[in-house]
Amino acid sequence: ALTGCGRSEEATPEASGSGSTAAAGGFPADSAIGIALPQKTSENWVLAENLFNEGLTSAGFKGDVQFANGGVSEQQNQIQAMITKGAKVIVVGAIDGAQLGTQLKAAKDSGATVIAYDRLLTNTADVDYYIAYDNFKVGQLQGQALLDGLAMKKPAGPYNIELFAGSPDDNNAKVFFDGAMEVLKPKIDDGTLKVVSGQQSFEQAVTQGWKAENAQKRMDTLLAGSYTGSTALDGVLSPNDTLARAIITSVKAAGKPIPVVTGQDSEVESVKSIMAGEQFSTINKDTRKLVEETIAMVVALQKGEEPTITDTTSYDNGVKVVPANLLEPVIVTKANAAEAYANDPVLGPLTK
Ligand code: BGC
Repeated sequence: ALTGCGRSEEATPEASGSGSTAAAGGFPADSAIGIALPQKTSENWVLAENLFNEGLTSAGFKGDVQFANGGVSEQQNQIQAMITKGAKVIVVGAIDGAQLGTQLKAAKDSGATVIAYDRLLTNTADVDYYIAYDNFKVGQLQGQALLDGLAMKKPAGPYNIELFAGSPDDNNAKVFFDGAMEVLKPKIDDGTLKVVSGQQSFEQAVTQGWKAENAQKRMDTLLAGSYTGSTALDGVLSPNDTLARAIITSVKAAGKPIPVVTGQDSEVESVKSIMAGEQFSTINKDTRKLVEETIAMVVALQKGEEPTITDTTSYDNGVKVVPANLLEPVIVTKANAAEAYANDPVLGPLTK
């Protein structure tokens, strides 16, 4: 899988127009719309299913929402089936954004518009738009939360930390890690932070498949290898909530105090953990908003209009810069949870 596509610092505007004739003409208001989602590796994906089904139906479309729990080839087959059924827009939350080239080309050849959802589709010209929360910003917020949590714990460093990243086949994983490292690297270099295991690279930090068991196993190994005796573990950069809870489980099993652990997704169990003073932070990327904005893009395309785009420089997929609609992620700790989830029917009551 190709990793590291993502955030280009330099704009290459000449590349951004290639292969896209998306907004030309519109399509019938009751068309089929395909939504290809990955595996249920975190709550956000599960929530998206109902939201897409309800939202597309009430907008008058025929929604076709599929999960690919079986893996990449299942997702390839699902996209092919959406094309066969005449989907006018295919929204893809990829398992592996670099493995769908053939299907995306077929989608474009059939006249469909392709939207990358949450995760970028890489190494292809056959993607028209990208919609996601700003992934680099998510990483920066996680890095800053780790520093803030450590400073609350003890006034001065050095602090012992470990670094975890997401699954390398998901383009987001590297972008989250790079965003966090932009904040943390200077503090590692000046000695404020010490990665005791020495495992500092993305490749060393990855968690295959975003699986909790893989993060838990790696944390067990790190604790056994680098935190024997009186060596304290002060903080852990975790890219999401599922992995954060696995890391905390491992630390508890080892009989160590819980370090400052970051997260992402505002999962119910992690919000409870934050309120209980265990996990330190999460990120609010309201799935309702992301799905609403995605459906708004589909509606614009249906009318033959250009959908909302907020960023035309950041997401180079290796072949083109994909025009993106980026939403703002919000950092959440115990201190601002009630405010952050005030309008959330599930999380609001947990944080009162
Ligand atoms: C999403 C995260 C999620 C992760 C694992 C990423 O692509 O952006 O919100 O935690 O996948 O499901």
